[in-house]
Amino acid sequence: MAQPDLYKVLGVDKKTSAADIKKAYRKLARENHPDQNPGDEAAEERFKQVSAAYDILGDPEKRKQYDSGGMFSGGGPGGGPGGVPFDPSTFGDIFSSFFGGDEPRGRAGRPRPARGRDLETEVRLSFDQSLAGIQVPVTLSIPGACSSCHGTGAAAGTSPKVCSSCQGRGIDSQGQGLFSISQPCSRCQGSGTIIEDPCRSCGGSGQVEKTKKLKVNIPAGVKEGSRVRIAGRGEPGSNGGPDGDLYVITRVAPSSIFRRKGDNVEVEVPLTIPEQLLGAEVEVPTLDGRKTLRVPPGTRSGSVQRLRGEGPPRLGAGKKDSRGDIHYRFVVDVPDKLTDEQSELVEKLSETMTASNPRAKLFSGGSAS
Ligand SMILES: [Zn+2]
Ligand SMILES: [Zn+2]
Repeated sequence: MAQPDLYKVLGVDKKTSAADIKKAYRKLARENHPDQNPGDEAAEERFKQVSAAYDILGDPEKRKQYDSGGMFSGGGPGGGPGGVPFDPSTFGDIFSSFFGGDEPRGRAGRPRPARGRDLETEVRLSFDQSLAGIQVPVTLSIPGACSSCHGTGAAAGTSPKVCSSCQGRGIDSQGQGLFSISQPCSRCQGSGTIIEDPCRSCGGSGQVEKTKKLKVNIPAGVKEGSRVRIAGRGEPGSNGGPDGDLYVITRVAPSSIFRRKGDNVEVEVPLTIPEQLLGAEVEVPTLDGRKTLRVPPGTRSGSVQRLRGEGPPRLGAGKKDSRGDIHYRFVVDVPDKLTDEQSELVEKLSETMTASNPRAKLFSGGSAS
């Protein structure tokens, strides 16, 4: 389990001086004080968090310990090795589990079931693989119960003892001036139990990193950045809680021809000037092969023809066999150089096109009167 970001709670950062931390704390404590906000539970919760954060960051010794990442890691059931990236979305849960709140631990300090964390990993796919779907091997590093101590963290032949300071509650409640403040028990660091003789394999955390290999089915039609959820393949739950999920993020190599646009792909198709003017039948690539498109006379640069249902497979239930479209975007291919003969012919064409000035409307009083 990661430690909560106490600096964030006080709106300061790691480099903030002790004096400024004190200032920030006083301001927030004043703003959120229950006397100032009668009946406002959110303010009360903030007040508790702010107080708890300052209890640690306001004490040079505790702050040092917190900065080293050693304060909340290890020890408790469900606790993990330190250095695990902190997930802000679980902040609230972590906070209430460490700092009291509505759900105190059972009287005997019995840990409650906790769902395993979700994991995230990335896989690299070629463009073709993203369209066809593929099974990819994935290697995960996930904490598992230490086999030497069976996850208790206590050395062989011993077991964790209920903490005598907090009687297993994991929380210290003490009056400080006007307020009563709950904070994690300083003896057991909130776990409710004390390990007198830590297991040598896991250092008392009860967990060790284990490498797990599995094969993951990536469905056809994923895009760059798609999140594929593999239910129940995240971190194992603790104390009978459900396992977390695994999210596989797909990194798809771009194609030199097809550009992904939502459920569709786009292809740029160059046309010569005569093809634009007179129309043509042109061969274009599809995802499965090639096709002939009829380009009508007078096709403008930038116009698009759609081939419906020939694009990438669509993700999602209820859309089986459904595919997006291919958009063919026509662009003029202007030659860098003309031969003498071509110049002459274009000159002649130009002489026949004097009937109307295409820029006339630029000067015909289009401005506001
Ligand atoms: Zn162990
Ligand atoms: Zn305790």
